[in-house]
Amino acid sequence: MTNTLHRDDEPRALRLPSTGLPADRLGRPLTDLRVSVTDRCNFRCVYCMPREIFGRDYVFMPRAELLTFEEIVRVARIGTRLGVRKVRLTGGEPLLRRGIEELIGMLAELRTVDGAPLDIAMTTNGSALAVKAQSLKDAGLHRVTVSLDSLDDATFRRMNDVDFPLERVLHGLEVAHEVGLGPIKVNMVVKRGQNDDDVLPMAEHFRGTGYVLRFIEYMDVGATNGWRLDEVVPSREIVERIRAAYPIEPLTPTAPGETAARWRYLDGSGEFGVISSVTQPFCATCNRARISADGRLYTCLFASEGTDLRALLRSGADDAELKSALAGVWSNRDDRYSQLRSSATDGIASHGRKVEMSYIGG
Ligand code: SAM
Ligand code: SF4
Ligand code: SF4
Repeated sequence: MTNTLHRDDEPRALRLPSTGLPADRLGRPLTDLRVSVTDRCNFRCVYCMPREIFGRDYVFMPRAELLTFEEIVRVARIGTRLGVRKVRLTGGEPLLRRGIEELIGMLAELRTVDGAPLDIAMTTNGSALAVKAQSLKDAGLHRVTVSLDSLDDATFRRMNDVDFPLERVLHGLEVAHEVGLGPIKVNMVVKRGQNDDDVLPMAEHFRGTGYVLRFIEYMDVGATNGWRLDEVVPSREIVERIRAAYPIEPLTPTAPGETAARWRYLDGSGEFGVISSVTQPFCATCNRARISADGRLYTCLFASEGTDLRALLRSGADDAELKSALAGVWSNRDDRYSQLRSSATDGIASHGRKVEMSYIGG
């Protein structure tokens, strides 16, 4: 089900006293917009788009349903007036969206409320990065986060489930680094029994390189991945495995709403992060809104309902109406799914149907 906005919706005006910008019901500002530019992907990662569901017969969105670049930029521009400082392009696989460089160029023109350029980032599986890194950089992309679940070719192929070779992603990472799309973050989703043996080899490989490796707890996003709590490797366990090999210490967070808890190697060979969405939720500082490829606004990764911004955009609404609608949704937001899940006895909060990660973006 989808919320429908009416053009005369009034925002509930809870504002942050220090900035005058809207806050949600739990006092959280809106600073980060994640935009899914496509629901398609060339991988079938077992934890995200399992092949049994996303097989040959799966029907992806027709092109006319996707937000156009102009529509995305309009939403982002209005977002900046409400406090957005960072836009992350995601998907599906964002590099599959034709002409993505053009969108990046348009976003690069936008300014925050303080007049600073928007921080523009992308999360990608890296499969097309070797070819695209230079044009992405030239268009104005600042940084990439690359998902990489193993350094063992067989495990990597098994997890992406399309037999994609590891070497090509590693090459993509190198090219992205050379063209200056850094500091590059590398995301590894850890699933027990699939790739948890790769935790230490990944840490060893990336320490001292300038890439920031982040271990992500396998999450119960969507309804198709058959999530089980016993397949989650708690961040605590990951940190202990690394600590047994290298002296490390925790770092203090640098930005409010930072998802990763950061650790540094005491020998000066850099840092790594752990994203404990399951065992230590960070809802209290969650400042992210998500736009699906077909223009629905979600205020939580685990939401079952989105607000149909596309209908509003295509109804001829002016900027003031759009701003009022966005501010209204944000001001009404009280999501804290992960926090509620962790206080539920079985580890899973009772919840309706959830949207898929490949639809809403990570
Ligand atoms: N295709 C791109 C990629 O893989 O980087 C962008 C979209 S993907 C949905 C965004 C991020 O979500 C990736 O880092 C992916 O590993 C992560 N992800 C997907 N399903 C997940 C799950 N069940 N638990 C934790 N992270 C997940
Ligand atoms: Fe595709 Fe990214 Fe999902 Fe993997 S995690 S299936 S690469 S969208
Ligand atoms: Fe944010 Fe929802 Fe995740 Fe909590 S569960 S951190 S509110 S996206």
